[in-house]
This record gives sequence, structure tokens and C-alpha cells, in this order.
Amino acid sequence: MVMRLHGHGASRGSALGRARVRLPYTQETGKKHVPAAAVEGELQRLHQAIDAARAEMRELRHRLQGALPAEVGEFLDLHAMLLDDPELLVALDELIRNNRYSAAYALRTQRDRLAQVFEGMEDAYLKSRLDDLDHVISRIHAFLHKRPPGVKGLAGEILVCENVAPSELAQLQSQGVVGIISSGGNTLSHSAILARSLHLPLVVNASGVLNRLNDGDVLIVDGGSGEIILDPGAVELDQHRARLRELAREQRELSHLRSKPTRTRDGVDITLLANAESHDDVAHAHAMGAHGLGLYRTEFLFLQRNELPGEEEQFQIYRDTVLGMCGRPVTIRTLDLGADKADRTGLVLGREENPALGLRGVRLSLARPKVADTQLRAILRASGYGPVRVLVPMVSTRDEILAVKRRMTRLASGLRNEGHAVAERIALGAMIEVPAAAIALESFIDLVDFLSIGTNDLVQYLLAADRNNEAVSTLYSALHPAVVRLLSQVIAAAQEHGTPVAVCGEIAGDPQMVPLLLALGLTEFSLHPATLLEVRRSIRDCDLGLLRDRHQKLLRARDRRGIERWIADATAGSSPGLR
Ligand code: PEP
Ligand code: MG
Repeated sequence: MVMRLHGHGASRGSALGRARVRLPYTQETGKKHVPAAAVEGELQRLHQAIDAARAEMRELRHRLQGALPAEVGEFLDLHAMLLDDPELLVALDELIRNNRYSAAYALRTQRDRLAQVFEGMEDAYLKSRLDDLDHVISRIHAFLHKRPPGVKGLAGEILVCENVAPSELAQLQSQGVVGIISSGGNTLSHSAILARSLHLPLVVNASGVLNRLNDGDVLIVDGGSGEIILDPGAVELDQHRARLRELAREQRELSHLRSKPTRTRDGVDITLLANAESHDDVAHAHAMGAHGLGLYRTEFLFLQRNELPGEEEQFQIYRDTVLGMCGRPVTIRTLDLGADKADRTGLVLGREENPALGLRGVRLSLARPKVADTQLRAILRASGYGPVRVLVPMVSTRDEILAVKRRMTRLASGLRNEGHAVAERIALGAMIEVPAAAIALESFIDLVDFLSIGTNDLVQYLLAADRNNEAVSTLYSALHPAVVRLLSQVIAAAQEHGTPVAVCGEIAGDPQMVPLLLALGLTEFSLHPATLLEVRRSIRDCDLGLLRDRHQKLLRARDRRGIERWIADATAGSSPGLR
């Protein structure tokens, strides 16, 4: 029978496929008991998984030798110790031998027992070691459930999971996954951003899916509306096909805007730059007629792999990006790992109580100078092939900009001495995503050549509402008067100093936000190429003079509803249509 479930659409597109359910290990029901004859085999399976987890840990330690600060190495040591801990191992063996538990069930039982001990501890530090226990157990669990070689394909499947990490998305897609549904997650998470970039339909925050969907169920997932249809009948299959045709038609209609200028009705040209995470995005940006790249997120290069990319590899990628944009400016953002962009290379291995406020962005780069220098050298070398701008994420102090500037100057002169072509002048910019940087802009604006406002993070830090936490998703909104006023201030201050300023957060790619951003004086948008033509259409429908006249009224709005009303009025004043 047809059943409909709902979540939040996070990456547009409609997919039809079979469900592949991935339960979090704490919920894995699996087989609880094994027959007496299978006990030895089960013990062997468990120990093979533990050995594999140990080997993985050793390999990671070896690979990162010297590249890690002491405290991160200590975490690895702690994990290795846990893997050898008799308390864990002997008890697991006993549970399998005496109770005939399956390896997975024994792992879960022992984890829960130890968790009780950890939770009962007074000492907050020891208590927090539960995270380490969970990490180690989840690694053993992953090896225990590794699919046999040869069963790699997920072709035509829709992954149903609790959460999906940015680091696994590209691989899942290359294995044939056609859509993803997660019970948790948020439309502004980095996984959602990456899914949009990969054109992989994604529905997040679909509560209940893990209990209601089973492996092999046939599903339609609509990443736009957030609807999930289980066991679609003839009617739903027809609707799905109609939806695909509709999406294709919309794209065809928009495509005539590819060669049209991004100009308002009253004749003002607006710059549309693209956000990119991969070479495909670069090709897409080029095809859509982007004026350049306003944000190249380099961390995605680090997310999908186990070892740090070296200078040569990074250089080739950045150089090809620059060549791909054929002389248009390419803004390369230095590494912005941390928070929900946890990598597999071990760079961000340290468990932080509050990672969004922790060692991320430029803070991480400055704390890992070797890693930062490798990246900067690669970027500087790429600047010999076309216009490159360097963008620094998570800036909160003048000193951070100064530190990056000094490094760049020293590295550039070293590279020139080595005979590399490095551009004479490379523009340096700061992301404005920490409220302190927005408020104290005057204190460092003299050091930068351009600014890019990262509203995804600015909103979360300004409103103290985690961008990934569905529970506060109604609070997390760019339509808060504080956000609108701060944006207005930053744009005005930048313009007073003659410093170019763009918005590169997700709101820049939302056609409905166009009138608001234009009213605030924004003339540069940086957005994913997938929505570039829709935003161009929206800009072409606007009259900038009229919007600027309504600027003060916008700033007077007292709440979200007031700002929504302002947008509705502004949109009614423009005549939608394809020009
Ligand atoms: C932002 O914070 O708005 C931004 C563009 O950076 P990211 O989404 O990569 O954190
Ligand atoms: Mg950010």
C-alpha cells in the first residue's frame, strides 16, 4: 500500500529506487543470538574486526606522524589502548561464548555496560571519554559489517540513514546511490550543501524513517518538497515521471538566460560568482556564465580521503580550477575544516566539546602551520596561471589576517626563488561569518582587498542557533532583524572603504532573497551554479532604485514576519517572467 512520509527537502531532484537502510550501530537490532556451533566463527569474526580497527589506527598514526600536535596523538593512543583493554575484550568473548550473543549484540551490550560506568563518573573529563569508547566501538562495528568484496554496488538505491557525513557523499554517489534520506540533519549542513553540488536528491530530518523503511522497499524521494513515497503505485510513478519532465522543462526555460546579462530592470549590472567544491562545479559555473568563482571550498579535497593531499596534488587541482575559469577570478578559500566538516585524515581528530566554537577555519590552519604552508604554496603556484584571490575563513581578529598575509609574502618570495611563476599581486579577503568580525570590521578592513559574507555561519553565531540542529531550526533564520541589520552595516562599511563585498552563504542562491540583498546594497552574489540562472532571472525582475528606496523600511522590520511581508511587497512590485 502506498505510504507517504515527510522530511525537509535539502537537495532538489526526484529519485526512484530501492531503500538501503543503514541503522546507527546503537540501534542495530541484528541477530541477537547465534547457534552453539557458530560461536567459534562469531568469535573469529569479532577478532578480525578488532584487528582491522587496530590496523586502521596504526596506519593513521603512522601516516600522521609529525603532522599532529601532541594532544591529537594522545587521542589516537587512547583509542589504541581501548582496543587492547581487557575489560572490553574479555567481556566480549564471554558474552559470545557464554551467552551465545552475536558479535554485534555483544559489542552493543558491553558498550552499554561501560557507558553506565562512564556516565556515573564525577570527573567531567573521564565522563567525556564515552565519546572515545563510542568511536572505537563504531570502528569495530564498521569492520564487522563491512560488506564482502564484490558487493560494492549500491546502484539504484536510496540510502536511508540517521545522518550522512560530507566525506561519504561523493563515494556513495559513485557507487550508484540515487538519493538519500536521513532521519536527522539540516538543510544548511555541509552535507546538504555538497549534495546540492552533486545534484543528489536529499531529504533530511525525516523522523521515523529508520523504523518504517526496510531494505529493499521501493521509494520515490523528492528532494525539493521533502516527500517520500513508499511502494508507489501507477499514479505515483506517473507523477514522478511528470515531475522529472517538469524539472527538465524548467531547466530548458532557464537556459536561455545563460548568455543574458545579470542586469536589473533599471540597468544596474550585478556580479554573479559561483561557489564550487569540485571540478564539475567549475565546469558548471563556466557553462552558466558565472563571472568567476567567489568561493572554492578547498576542504572538500580533504574530506573524501584518508591522507592529507600534498602540495603537488593541491597545486594541480587549483591550477586546473583557474584554467577552467578561463581568465575569470577564482577565489580559493583556505582550509575550513572543523565543526561538521570533520575529516578522515586525522587533522580534526581532537574531540571538542563545542566544535563550532573550536579549532576550525583559519584557527586550525594557524595551529597546523605545515598544513597551511603546503596549501598556500599550492595556491600561490596556481596564481601563475590566472587571477587567484585567497579567502580566509572564520576570521575573528586582525592578527589572523596579518599572520596569513605574512605567511603568503614569505612563501611567495620562496617560490619565486625556486623559479615558480607567482602572480605579482594576489588579493586577500576575509570571510565575514563571526559576528566579531562583522562588528569590528573597521579594525581590519585596511588589511584586506575584499570581503565575503558567510551567512550560513554568521546566522548561527549571531543567533546562537546551531545550523545543523533541527531542534532550533525555526530560530536559525536569515530573516531575523539582527541579521538584516548586520548585513546592512557590513555592506555599507565595505562600500565606504571601496572594498568589494559579496555574500557567499546559501541565501545568495535563494531567488526569494534577491530583493532583500539588493535593497541592502549588495552587488556581488556568490552561489552554487545550480541556482545561478534562477537568481539571474530574479535580479532581472528587480528595480534596484525602488528597492533601495525601501531600504529603511526593511531595517525597521521588527520580526521575521515583518521581513517576510517586506519581501512579499517587494516581489509584488517586480514583474516576474523570463526577460
Ligand atoms: C558560510 O558560512 O556562509 C559559508 C559560505 O561557509 P561554509 O558554509 O562552508 O561554512
Ligand atoms: Mg562558513
